[in-house]
Amino acid sequence: MMKKLFLILLFPVTLLSQDIDKIFQNKNEIYFSFNYKSKHQLDELSKIISLDHKIEKTRAFAYANKKQFENFLEKNINFELIDKTVFYDNISKNNWDFYPTYNQYVDMMYAFADSFPNICNVYSLGTLNSGREILIVNISDNVGQKENEPSFLYTSSMHGDELTGYVLMLRFIDDLLNSYNVDSRKTNLVNEIDIWINPLANPDGAYAGGNNNVWGATRSNANFVDLNRNYPDPQDGPHPDGNPWQDETLIFMGLADSINFNLGSNLHTGAVVANYPWDTWSQLTADDNWWQHVCNEYADTCQFYGPGNYFSNYNDGIINGYDWYEVDGGRQDYMNYFKQCREFTLELSDDKTPNPANLPVFWDATSPSFYNFMEQSLYGLRGIITDSITGAPIRAKVEVLNHDIDSSHVYSSLPVGNYHRYIYQGNYSFLFSKSGYHSKTINASVLNNNTSFLNVQLVPINSVSINDIKQNKKAIKSVDILGRKNQKNSNNVKIEIDEKGLKTKKIIIN
Ligand SMILES: [Zn+2]
Repeated sequence: MMKKLFLILLFPVTLLSQDIDKIFQNKNEIYFSFNYKSKHQLDELSKIISLDHKIEKTRAFAYANKKQFENFLEKNINFELIDKTVFYDNISKNNWDFYPTYNQYVDMMYAFADSFPNICNVYSLGTLNSGREILIVNISDNVGQKENEPSFLYTSSMHGDELTGYVLMLRFIDDLLNSYNVDSRKTNLVNEIDIWINPLANPDGAYAGGNNNVWGATRSNANFVDLNRNYPDPQDGPHPDGNPWQDETLIFMGLADSINFNLGSNLHTGAVVANYPWDTWSQLTADDNWWQHVCNEYADTCQFYGPGNYFSNYNDGIINGYDWYEVDGGRQDYMNYFKQCREFTLELSDDKTPNPANLPVFWDATSPSFYNFMEQSLYGLRGIITDSITGAPIRAKVEVLNHDIDSSHVYSSLPVGNYHRYIYQGNYSFLFSKSGYHSKTINASVLNNNTSFLNVQLVPINSVSINDIKQNKKAIKSVDILGRKNQKNSNNVKIEIDEKGLKTKKIIIN
């Protein structure tokens, strides 16, 4: 029933151009390994080729298209070409132990929304030139309406041959929907979170061998571009890989522009580890201790439910991205740096496309962590930021004083005005600001795996007439305190409120 073929071909260092042509005769992407001397050398090479997640002590694995491979050859490094043909013919198709065909996948996604119309919508984010679609489901109570809820994203398999998360995410959607009003914890997650799940971010890669199975899957998309090197990078600019943004990249950048995701994860395979930011540079994030906390929670839970040493390699199942290997143009850094979404990278299995018979084992091992991590989106400091005069929600910046670096601030998002700042437990000074408003600094404490609520009213800088303020109970109360009540109808009375808010406002009479 099951065939697994693993061929390794040895090549001399110097290749003639016809040899290169031959290597790329029937494929646009090759997989190979080579010995490396230092992390520095590896980081340099990562700018030329796509390093695999699989890295051994002295040996690295990588993907390359023809142009990338020619650049690699100039470095005169010995390499081994790996013809990794894996084919599993699994016939049971029960209990999520199979990879769906492309059409089955599409049918499944639409069936989720059809079966649970009150809590699930399906969206096509775009149709690729191949005709394949990038699909996403949105799951929440009052689905389609913006509420005071964090927006959470799971997306899998932007590397088309890394497919564990593809099936596990389909199963996760199924489990979440079927648990609604059955399991109280999962019901609460659906009620309280704006959940978005995209099981297959690179359908052209996954079905490169045709829509009927995933056995010809490639890492790259149809243009042989590694999508996880194709994003704007905090250090290396808009096009670190030298390629234009691919349709898939534009689709996900557009999604991140329209949904203000607060927390998320991007699912890969090829290793087993929780990889947290940054990938592009060595400095740590402002929230390194928080990242370690949530990644440890993820890994420890996997160790508990999983077989053998699942999620126990590296630093007990977690690793800082750059410490592992540098990635430029990766999606994780893009989401964190440019979109203020805390997104990390999960590597779910050593086998990129495991025997589907084993997928239920991975589900048992990692699905409790899927839920735990999603639940983290409810924690930290959160609230709604409004205009103190009109009560209208505003998009304001939330900074943590003496803490935030490298774009680690967040924003409240419209139309609700809700903000969500995840942070390791402690006491912090939060600065709330927006141009046209007086800033406010408020001290607040946060506990791990707990929620602190803080609604904030920002006071507009522009002087306003008493008539405008009249509707605002608080403001009028303050006016009373200062004994200016009788002048409230006078047009030449203006109220200006300083940083400390209404309590210490000044009244200026022109
Ligand atoms: Zn990957």
